[in-house]
Amino acid sequence: MSTSVLTAVAWPYANGPRHIGHVSGFGVPSDVFSRYQRMAGNRVLMVSGTDEHGTPILVQSDKEGLSPQETADKYTRQISQDLRGLGLSYDLFTRTTTGNHAEVVQQIFLALHRNGYVVPKTTTGAVSPSTGRTLPDRYIEGTCPLCGYDGARGDQCDNCGNQLDAAELKNPRSRINGEKPEFVETEHLFLDLPAFTESLGDWLSTKTDWRPNVLNFTKNLVDDMRPRPITRDLDWGVKVPLDGWRDQPLKRFYVWFDAVIGYFSASVEWARRSGDPDAWKPFWTDPDAQSFYFMGKDNITFHAQLWPAFLLGHNGQGDKGGEPGPYGTLNLPGEIVSSEFLTMSGSKFSTSRGTVIYVEDFLREFGPDTLRYFISVAGPETQDTDFTWDEFVRRTNFELANEWGNLVNRSISLAHKNNGGVPAPTAPAPADEELKALSRGAFDTVGTHLRHSRFKQAAGEAMRVVSAANKYLSDQEPWKLKEDPDRRDAVLHTALQVVSDANALLTPFLPHAAQKVHEALGGTGVWAAQPECHDVEDLDIPGRTNPILTGDYSHEQATWESTPVEVGRPLEKPSPLFAKLDASLGETGPEWAPIQS
Ligand SMILES: [Zn+2]
Repeated sequence: MSTSVLTAVAWPYANGPRHIGHVSGFGVPSDVFSRYQRMAGNRVLMVSGTDEHGTPILVQSDKEGLSPQETADKYTRQISQDLRGLGLSYDLFTRTTTGNHAEVVQQIFLALHRNGYVVPKTTTGAVSPSTGRTLPDRYIEGTCPLCGYDGARGDQCDNCGNQLDAAELKNPRSRINGEKPEFVETEHLFLDLPAFTESLGDWLSTKTDWRPNVLNFTKNLVDDMRPRPITRDLDWGVKVPLDGWRDQPLKRFYVWFDAVIGYFSASVEWARRSGDPDAWKPFWTDPDAQSFYFMGKDNITFHAQLWPAFLLGHNGQGDKGGEPGPYGTLNLPGEIVSSEFLTMSGSKFSTSRGTVIYVEDFLREFGPDTLRYFISVAGPETQDTDFTWDEFVRRTNFELANEWGNLVNRSISLAHKNNGGVPAPTAPAPADEELKALSRGAFDTVGTHLRHSRFKQAAGEAMRVVSAANKYLSDQEPWKLKEDPDRRDAVLHTALQVVSDANALLTPFLPHAAQKVHEALGGTGVWAAQPECHDVEDLDIPGRTNPILTGDYSHEQATWESTPVEVGRPLEKPSPLFAKLDASLGETGPEWAPIQS
């Protein structure tokens, strides 16, 4: 039976191009997962978009002399193209500046408000003494009052992960010009988080199979819940739909408040664009639907604590009860899949420090599948992991080119040369059955790992089939079986069957190469479908054009099972699947990339 699976992927800020650290956290793992789920016959809805509100966009637009919208337009286009280049199969990659998003955010807010989960409070806000402008949290730095880390931000400490108020920081200073901020009184709306202590705790207690890093982090959060501001003094963001608030030029929703609602608003937009405005419902209101949220570890708070609290409040299921909001009773997150950081020379990727490799540069030189594979087998799945060119070259040359590329090439070339097509298994031997049983069995093993987001183990098990097939060919030596063509045919038939199986097993990781192997095996049509960039009219704001990423994956042929190769199907001489990289690249990296210390 087909299950509805929501893949909710973290929203990148539209304030600059994305680097490979970003896509190793949210991008590649979520796509590998979604492609597997589609192959396994489930209905997948994979949504995300660019996060275009808040101070990061304002700071970038100041820097570039553009309006915030122009800045967001520029980078959402670039980011969509990078994600398309990587083959990330979004059903909809949209943005938070659409009319649809503003409407959904306001509706969710109003439901929270009606149910009593929003409280006004007078609070202190930071102001820059030299400009008189509100100084946003992200641009205030100081010492964390909880752990003593000196680089804590005004809203969060990246060292201990706790949420903070800027006024609590010791020795606060502006990251823009170093001055000490002034704190003034201002009124804001707060989410009454303590009113979710029991309901959120109950929900969390059902989540025993989350990755331990997520579970431990979230349990600590729930032990100490304080009201959390959901508005800011800012002139860029979604307006607050309440009398006395909606016309105030400097009161907007906090960027994180509107951004996490994006998972739902993007699903609604996808449905509206599909021609069936209710098409989001099976993914959000069916209790049997599954949902998986993919992100880097710095975003766990928003997905495991705040977003579930919004949903409980909207549904009228928080500790104070209430009525379901206009969208009915919405599903809470199923799984939170959080990655650690991809680092370079031990540090986080950083544009300012020059330790950064942009997706665009990487794709231009090496194509998408080598990076997808590297992130899957050597990425920061459970611990911070250093990117090194040496490791990248080694994985590409030895595993993709030598192991997988060579198996495909040898098997198809020999069958083409000797038979002109797929031979019949006329003289089978036990070794053939053994190898085919191994590759058939791998669909279960690899599939189980993928369902649990264990990408390294999944890729490792798929590559084990490839190694076994290479060993089989070396043992059977079909090139020496001139005198025994029946046996040779059986060996080549077996090899081609296992190439076909391994190609299916590797499709979630290597969708572009998988299409090539499909064609090299004589297949036609789309094996693994790819997303496309389009410009579309905003559904609600006349005259506004939005660049989106979308795709039709319903016609792809890839399925999660062993499909018998067709005897007699003609085969051409294949071209190499992966080009080997020059070994010197492993020492120096390409010219455009930073040199490693
Ligand atoms: Zn701290």
